[in-house]
Amino acid sequence: MREYAADWEALKTADPQVAEAIANELDRERSQLRLIASENYTSPAVLAALGSTMSNKYAEGYPGRRYYGGCEFVDVTEQLAIDRAKQLFGAEHANVQPHAGAQANMAVFGAFLTPNEPGEKVLGMVLSHGGHLTHGSPVNVSGMWFNFVGYEVDGETEQLDMDRIRDMALAERPKIILSGYTAYPREIDFAAFREIADEVGALLWVDASHFIGLVAGGAYPSPVPYADVVTFTTHKALRGPRGAMIVCKQEHAKAIDKAVFPMMQGGPLEHCIAAKAVALKEAMEPEFKEYAQRVVRSARALAAGLGDEGLRVVSGGTDSHLVLADCRPLGITGRDAEKACEEVGIALNKNSIPFDPNPPSTPSGIRVGTPGPATLGMDEAEMREVAGIMGDVLRSPDDVGVKEKARERVLDLMRRFPAYP
Ligand SMILES: *Cc1c(COP(=O)(O)O)cnc(C)c1O
Repeated sequence: MREYAADWEALKTADPQVAEAIANELDRERSQLRLIASENYTSPAVLAALGSTMSNKYAEGYPGRRYYGGCEFVDVTEQLAIDRAKQLFGAEHANVQPHAGAQANMAVFGAFLTPNEPGEKVLGMVLSHGGHLTHGSPVNVSGMWFNFVGYEVDGETEQLDMDRIRDMALAERPKIILSGYTAYPREIDFAAFREIADEVGALLWVDASHFIGLVAGGAYPSPVPYADVVTFTTHKALRGPRGAMIVCKQEHAKAIDKAVFPMMQGGPLEHCIAAKAVALKEAMEPEFKEYAQRVVRSARALAAGLGDEGLRVVSGGTDSHLVLADCRPLGITGRDAEKACEEVGIALNKNSIPFDPNPPSTPSGIRVGTPGPATLGMDEAEMREVAGIMGDVLRSPDDVGVKEKARERVLDLMRRFPAYP
């Protein structure tokens, strides 16, 4: 059999318990509305590459420079992924091996920082305003071994204030300035970040995990021309397999490659890398531009709809795929909002809002995103419908009748826009 990837029948026979759980997960994905801003539906072609025998291959090193024999075919797919990443993002260098976003970020630390060296500061956003776990959280290696100092969003606009960030950079003299977040809905002025970095002699690192898919589709500004190094996951708006990549200026290529392997990782996941190559090819198609625009357009419709339902939209709107909404006007916490929505088949997550008076376990807000729904073909009209359903449920989270009706409306929506039909 020359042509072979995943074999469902073989799995069902060999391990019915695992097969059953996987089938149930697919059912869940078909019946629950995916508003989690960091999730998506990857294509059957990507899934086929993931389920291929390239999982079997050891390939420590890089294409043409491996520590194992028999790498001629994984060299093909890894080189395709590298070339496509460089072309799609206009990058000088690409490393497609990081197993996940956290590992890509670790490689940045490995390339540029010394552990436990308080003089080497990283200026990033405070976590409570949208920074990621790997941007200096005390429970993560980033915060345990490296010295992060944090900027906040402006209290009035709830948006970045570049003058204050510049003041902090001048006062703190960081080695690295970090932009790119997990819960920031607006455009980021990467040119302004570059100017500040140049003024204080810092490297500019952008963690583009959340919005890189929008960059690929031309629906969000690209950090690549401005940043020394850009890390990003491949499984969020980019709609590829679970994993990550790094693109950087040529001058940092060696340092980044050495930090990914052998410093932080061993053998690369060549089946994932093949799947990344497939996803990048898909992201270069004209349809992906339409997709990225639909993501942003429908997120704006969702933001407006949630505002009409009485939630307070943080920063007043969105320029991206995600919306952060303050649930307090409806008298419900983010935690209870998440639970009520889950009960009617809408998956989203509770989220702190900037300057949240409530603790992270019961934050004031929720975060919703449209990369998933837009993949299914949903657009502005559907997101207005979803906002209406959410409004009904969040105003009456204990009303069984309201929730039953909402559940039926969500199921109807999922039947009209099926996942993996
Ligand atoms: C998702 C995300 C990551 C981490 O990605 P994992 O693949 O979960 O390790 C890192 N940074 C940002 C900004 C993210 O949104």
